[in-house]
Amino acid sequence: MSTRKWIDGWMEGACLKISKSVTLLSLPHLLTTALQSLFSVLNGSCTNTRGAMSGSPAVVLRLVASAYTVAEKAGDIVRKVLHRGDLGIVEKEGAHDLQTLADRLAQQSICASLSRRFPKITIIAEEELPVEEIKEDLIENGHAEEILKEVCPAEYSGLKEEELVVWVDPVDGTKEYTEGLLDNVTVLIGIAHAGRAIAGVINQPFYNYQIGPGARLGRTMWAMSGLGAFGVEMQEVADDKCIVTTTRSHSNKLITDCVNAMEPHEVLRVGGAGNKIIQLIEGKASAYVFASPGTKKWDTCAPEVLLQCFGGKLTDMHNNPYRYDADVKRVNSAGVLATLRNHEYYSSRVPRSVLEALKSD
Ligand code: AMP
Ligand code: MG
Ligand code: MG
Repeated sequence: MSTRKWIDGWMEGACLKISKSVTLLSLPHLLTTALQSLFSVLNGSCTNTRGAMSGSPAVVLRLVASAYTVAEKAGDIVRKVLHRGDLGIVEKEGAHDLQTLADRLAQQSICASLSRRFPKITIIAEEELPVEEIKEDLIENGHAEEILKEVCPAEYSGLKEEELVVWVDPVDGTKEYTEGLLDNVTVLIGIAHAGRAIAGVINQPFYNYQIGPGARLGRTMWAMSGLGAFGVEMQEVADDKCIVTTTRSHSNKLITDCVNAMEPHEVLRVGGAGNKIIQLIEGKASAYVFASPGTKKWDTCAPEVLLQCFGGKLTDMHNNPYRYDADVKRVNSAGVLATLRNHEYYSSRVPRSVLEALKSD
């Protein structure tokens, strides 16, 4: 940073206003004020009008900027593992709950990269992996410069690293990944504060893959509450149409009963929680209905923020929000109901049998 910028920043950050009235003050008073202001800057207790310490972006904005490039790197890993051919599939709790080499490497990359840069954040990731030295080529040190230029919402500008919880799903839609349904796959990095999902990054590694050879694969979208969503364009389903999106590989009677109760014109059965939220945002579905335990906090944290930033809502089947504190239950016990519009309508159609079977967290 140039000296000039630093001084401007310091002046703004210190809330030191050089105005006509200041000239009326005595020199000792001026000195005292300047010293007090300097201390408040050093203590981090004074924020400027951008809602961040001047000259140094807010921690949460820096975390999102890093998570953006870290998610891109993870997406790259996911593509490379597929390209190499040996997916290294392991069954976790059965044939519908899989882990691949891509899940393992992407998680190592995300967690090691973020914790190296933000050593005090809490990171909770899906895969249980042995503690081992992470290869240097898995580390991503970059960040998205464009994100750092954004103005951090004032309510988040003073958050400290140790107050932030990061939920990581290194590969959402692993089963579909192993079956070649590649657009179902996403990398999810969600950021929570005080139990609420406040920011999220989603990378879709195989976006555009249907176009064929030569297509530029992959895209990354991100969002922060109070700031907005970027990297994806919203489109709405026609008002008179009800399209429900739901699981293709984890269905059961409760889920199908609940889907039918919505009286949909069409039902889409696709993989991935991230993928289904993108379908809502892009006008391919009106409601994501999953009336069962199964998804976890790392499946919903990042997608929830993206959806909310477009005016949507994600709750359990009782219309209660999920919390994302570090010590919450990982499983979303009472299912997932997510919509871009008309959440109360869909919520009102959830059958009594579903409400009786599923208890909120
Ligand atoms: P799906 O809609 O079936 O692709 O599920 C969305 C996310 O929730 C994926 O990460 C799944 O692995 C996870 N999930 C849903 N149901 C289950 C289940 N019964 N067991 C394990 N994971 C599940
Ligand atoms: Mg998942
Ligand atoms: Mg996963």
